[in-house]
Order: sequence, then C-alpha cells, then structure tokens
Amino acid sequence: MDLSFENLIGNEEKQNNKIENVIILGAGPAGLSAALYAARAELSPFVLTGMTLGGQAALTNAIENYPGFPDGVGGSELGELFQKQAERFGARFEFDVVTEVDLISSPYVIKTYGQEFRTKTLIISTGANPNYLYVPGEKELTGKGVSYCGTCDGWFFKGKKIVVVGGGDSALEEGIFLTRFATSVTIIHRRDQLRASKILQSRAMENERISFIWDTVVKEIRGEESVESVLLENVKSGETSVMETDGVFIFIGNSPNTEIFKEFLDMDAEGFLIVDANMHTNKPGVFAAGEVMDPHYKQVVISAGMGAAAAIEATRYLEGLEE
Ligand code: NAP
Repeated sequence: MDLSFENLIGNEEKQNNKIENVIILGAGPAGLSAALYAARAELSPFVLTGMTLGGQAALTNAIENYPGFPDGVGGSELGELFQKQAERFGARFEFDVVTEVDLISSPYVIKTYGQEFRTKTLIISTGANPNYLYVPGEKELTGKGVSYCGTCDGWFFKGKKIVVVGGGDSALEEGIFLTRFATSVTIIHRRDQLRASKILQSRAMENERISFIWDTVVKEIRGEESVESVLLENVKSGETSVMETDGVFIFIGNSPNTEIFKEFLDMDAEGFLIVDANMHTNKPGVFAAGEVMDPHYKQVVISAGMGAAAAIEATRYLEGLEE
C-alpha cells in the first residue's frame, strides 16, 4: 500500500461540483477588498486565504497612512476589519493554501492540499514577500528594529540612526524617505556600484544625512529587546566590524508568489503578473491585483484599490457571459 503523503492527499481530495462565480486567492488588502466588492455585487465570492490573513500589512504594528484611521490601525486589525466587512455582504473565506491551478480554459480549476474548486473567474492577489538576508538576528528582531517598509515604520525612527541594506531603487528611495525621520541613514551595499537609477543615486549622494558603506554585507543583526548593532564584513578584504544602529531596513528585492501560475499567465522577468490597465491577465476572466502584479507602490491603500478594480472587472466579465 502506498502511504506516501502525495497518495494520502490524493485519496482525500474532494471534488466540488459547484462552479463558483469568483474565487479570490490571497487575503491581503487586495484580496479582501476584492472580496468586499464582489460580495456587494452579489457574486458570493469564495476566498482562499493562504497562510496569512491581512498579507504583508498584517506584519506592520501600526498603519498610519490608511485613510479613515486618524490614530492609525494595527495591520492585523485592519485585515480583520476588511474581512468582517466582506463577510457582512456574503463573502466566504477558507483558510487553505492553493497548491495547483489549471487555467487552460474556463471553468478554471483551483486545487488546495485536500480540495478542488472550479470557478468562472479568478482574482489572483497572492502578494509578494520581501527577500530576506537570512542572517542571525533578522527574524528575531523583525518588528523590533528590523523592517522591510520605510513608509510603514520610518516614523518610529525619529531622531535615530539606521542602516539600509541594498543598492537598488527601493533601497535608495526608501533611504531618502527615511532621512525625514532618522538623523543618519547608512546604506550598506554588497558592491561598489549601485543598481539604482541615476536620478535616485544623485539624490542620495546629495543628501547630507545619507552615507554609504561599499563592498560590505551584514553578517548578523544584534540586540536584546531591539536592534543595537550589526556585524559587517567587507567582501573584498574579509575584514569584520561592528556598527551601532537603532534600525535595519532591508530592501534587497521582492519575490511575487506566482510560481503556480507560470505555465498559464504572462509575467515579467521577476515573476510579477502582467495585467492590462483594467487588471486583466492574458486569460479571460482571470484578474490580478496588489503586489503580485505591482513591484512599485507596495501600499495598503493602493492594493485595496486594485482589488476593488479587479472585482468590478470580474463582475462586468460575468455580466458579459450572461448576455
Ligand atoms: P532590485 O532592483 O532587485 O535591487 C536589489 C538590491 O539588493 C541590489 O542592489 C542587490 O545587489 C541587493 N541585494 C540582493 N540580494 C542581496 C543580498 N542577499 N544581500 C545584500 N544585497 C542584496 O530590487 P528593488 O530595489 O526592490 O527594485 C525592484 C524593482 O522595482 C526594480 O525594477 C526597481 O527599478 C523597481 N522600483 C522602482 C522604483 C522607482 O521607480 N521609483 C522604486 C522602487 C523599486 P546587486 O546590485 O549587487 O545585485
């Protein structure tokens, strides 16, 4: 008897004969907002949440730039409020992870570890994850001085010294933004040439609060309750040093969660889904919203807006099928 994991899962897989109007993948701001709009269009959307409700935003202690919350709101609290609002209008949620899709033709097939669903339209809002350094102390001190979002967390570093890791547009753009709060921003880059655009390079070089450490990597982030210092290594000389700092902002790229769509959907070289101006992918009835297709803004309000747009488009698409 084959007792392998795959076989056991295969035996348990339940096929649902119902064809859903809309399945939404992911429950970050884009997915939850799409759920609200699709629910209010009486489509009874079905959301497969993935591992985290609220997406990356749920990792942020305080969101102070989402309109309507003058005193700020916790990231996970905002996610719960989004969900509650969508449920009020009939959105259905299932805490499950999609493992496979078949987007050859409609109805599209969505598989999780134990279930199979079919749907006329699909909204993909599976988000992206910041790339990690994978050094000691990074995970333990995330939210305690280690951050992946200057716009979210910069305010907490008023009058403090921080380091920024990376040499791309994000590192420089966020580094420049962070000088609004921090007294000094030290950009640590693993090479002696920046990847960022020339205009951002010039702005960063001209900024008196920004300095650079070249050819250097962070080997460890240290601190008891919060970040206190970083252990650095010069990649050319091998020399190590300890630098005191209050915060470590890491911007070494983002990876969209699009692996399972590779076979079916157009994406750019970094794996972000390509959509037209109305959130349509290259497959009819398949839409994408939020960071899974947006490497630039990375903001809750923008992802939520895109989710709403995708749901409106899905509604129009379904109306077109009925005509
Ligand atoms: P990116 O362009 O991929 O740059 C990542 C940076 O991190 C690179 O400098 C890279 O070094 C460094 N890096 C990667 N892995 C590292 C590691 N393990 N340790 C240390 N350093 C590491 O990512 P991004 O800056 O997030 O930008 C992503 C995309 O969004 C780009 O297309 C960018 O142009 C775009 N973007 C545009 C704007 C804008 O137009 N205003 C703003 C933000 C982002 P190397 O250079 O040595 O590879």
